[in-house]
Amino acid sequence: MSHSTATRIQDFIGDPVSQAPPVPRAKLEEIFNDIQGDLRFDHELNGCLNCGICTATCPAAHYYDFSPREIVQLLWTENLEGIYDAMQEKIWACAQCYTCAARCPFKNSPGGLVMMMREVSIKHGMQSAKDVLRPFSRVMLKLISTGNQLAPDMINPDHFADWGPNISKVDAPLKLLRKAIPMATLNTTDTAWEVNLKTSVELYTIWEMTGVLGQLETIDENLFDVITDIMEEKRDDWQDFLDEQDDEDDDA
Ligand code: SF4
Ligand code: SF4
Repeated sequence: MSHSTATRIQDFIGDPVSQAPPVPRAKLEEIFNDIQGDLRFDHELNGCLNCGICTATCPAAHYYDFSPREIVQLLWTENLEGIYDAMQEKIWACAQCYTCAARCPFKNSPGGLVMMMREVSIKHGMQSAKDVLRPFSRVMLKLISTGNQLAPDMINPDHFADWGPNISKVDAPLKLLRKAIPMATLNTTDTAWEVNLKTSVELYTIWEMTGVLGQLETIDENLFDVITDIMEEKRDDWQDFLDEQDDEDDDA
């Protein structure tokens, strides 16, 4: 479908309530082109009957102002303003359960389309992406710097204040319990398991080369700086180790 010939389309989208600066039409097109240009787009969107089966079976639609049918219709009709609007809040309601994809008679995947829209919102540094993802900073820091997400010592009242009194149910002599696990890589509480230096540096290189770190920088520059410092140190340590190995080989 072509959207360039339609005449009813506004030149920009504004918000009369907050008086946020209007979004130029060129920006709306750029955002849509990024979604449409995704390799998965043609696979996830094959047409739409507007039947609403996806919304009827969507758990997120029961609890939030969110409808997969609406998202698919916006993309199918290339409603650039509506797409931009949905990316401000609605797309973050999806639970990524893919019930919709299993039910759609057109074999669309509304959940997959939402995933693409989220990725594009991160790429464009949208405020909605920053607001939604910033609470996960601690997990990202842990994941990238140690190779795993939650650590046993994160399960405490400081980190999970929202658990209320239930946190006491997991209050235990963690260090002692972890030491009792036969595998040495699990005898730790500040990471879920120990990832060796080589693997850690390799994982970081993958995140760097696949653009994950670039996306992180767009969303949270401070977190990006902290992670970069930690990982550059690890890279230096790994290089030192390799140099030592070379020296030992030369001496042998
Ligand atoms: S993947 Fe998202 S849109 Fe689809 S059914 Fe699940 S919550 Fe709803
Ligand atoms: S995406 Fe599929 S299930 Fe949802 S309204 Fe369109 S055709 Fe119906």
